[in-house]
Amino acid sequence: MIDFTNTQIAFESKNDRDLQRARLLFEAIRSPFMVKCCKVASLTALKIHFPVAWAVKPTIYRHFVGGETLEDCTQLSKELMKYGVYSILDYSAEGGNKDSDIMHTFTEILHSIDYAMGNRNIAYAVFKPTALTHEESLRKYSEGEELTQKESEDIEHWKECFEALCKRAFDADVRLLVDAEDVCFQDAIDKFTDEMMRKYNSKRAIVFTTFQMYRHDRYAYLERLYNDAVENNYIVGMKFVRGAYMEEERLRAQKMGYPDPICATKEDTDNNYNAGLQCVIEHIDHFELFSGSHNEESNRYLASIMKEHGIANDDKRVFFAQLYGMSDNISYNLAKDGYNVVKYIPYAPVNKVLPYLIRRAEENTAMVGQSTRELNMIRSEIMRRKQMN
Ligand SMILES: Cc1cc2nc3c(=O)[nH]c(=O)nc-3n(C[C@H](O)[C@H](O)[C@H](O)COP(=O)(O)OP(=O)(O)OC[C@H]3O[C@@H](n4cnc5c(N)ncnc54)[C@H](O)[C@@H]3O)c2cc1C
Repeated sequence: MIDFTNTQIAFESKNDRDLQRARLLFEAIRSPFMVKCCKVASLTALKIHFPVAWAVKPTIYRHFVGGETLEDCTQLSKELMKYGVYSILDYSAEGGNKDSDIMHTFTEILHSIDYAMGNRNIAYAVFKPTALTHEESLRKYSEGEELTQKESEDIEHWKECFEALCKRAFDADVRLLVDAEDVCFQDAIDKFTDEMMRKYNSKRAIVFTTFQMYRHDRYAYLERLYNDAVENNYIVGMKFVRGAYMEEERLRAQKMGYPDPICATKEDTDNNYNAGLQCVIEHIDHFELFSGSHNEESNRYLASIMKEHGIANDDKRVFFAQLYGMSDNISYNLAKDGYNVVKYIPYAPVNKVLPYLIRRAEENTAMVGQSTRELNMIRSEIMRRKQMN
């Protein structure tokens, strides 16, 4: 059984200063009050264009972000590969909804696909479909509302950009992850991603759909997708996550009076997640799998069912994934055992990546278990090193 408590392996790539910085950071973001103050201060600073880089860059940015540009991340991705860990460079700029912001994001994602081409440190490219259009147009289209002329044009343009990314990934032989977002956008995203998989995944998975397994309708959808892949002879690129928008989804469902799309309990989500893994591993000839989770049990479970089905640890059809700056104990220990492991590394200028950083801080505050685990691991590695000296 994989030992996720081995802190020596987990933090092999970190020097003592890195570890002390990580300790201070996780101690700070454990306090909801502190995170709330930082959130208000940074959002205000953003609004009034007050420079925050001096405070953010050496601390939380450095821990969770690879740099401002793709090139800034080159050294980091080489470093990770020394430990057998691949990278995904994720352009994480948020907040711009002007046509020029959308085109800038589109061009940046194209660059990231070109950058990944033939680069053995980079395992996938990735994009958020809402970043390629005006969110309100996509929401209305996804929920079947009538569109204005301008909104219809937005959707046509969204599909053109979406397909251009898939085509570029196909030509470059780079796997491309389509992130999942709020339920109100997801029908449109799913439908178009399925179309792209049928078109570009005939020999191998290039386009990957994302299933948020906190949704109770996802397992039935997985079965439909599997049947479609068998019938139409293509490989499903399947990225599983639990899902990041639970509170918002529950609130929206309640407010608008439709059934809650999220599993009733955490246990139901966990079971759904593991059932998805099980289904894909049983039919691996029709899938490539990307499992994005910081849950030790799910990672252990995936490793155990791979073994049960005679799938080699380094079989290129199965990747384990965690976010950069989190759960190194899972990533590095899996990589040490020869599994394919990849880190999602966000990159963007400080002011553009602030919303992402606030979410990471809030997530670690909300999930007391997660931040306590991170902090305990860091503390015990600091202690272990002291005892060695
Ligand atoms: C590499 C990677 C890529 C990701 N990409 C995406 C993406 O494209 N889209 C996206 O939405 N998220 C994405 N995420 C975030 C992910 O969805 C989870 O929010 C996050 O990873 C926490 O889940 P976990 O499996 O790591 O761990 P855990 O800590 O075991 O699970 C926490 C999750 O369980 C679920 N949950 C918690 N309480 C309940 C409850 N009471 N009832 C039902 N369910 C509950 C929620 O989904 C919560 O986030 C990604 C995560 C990773 C690591």
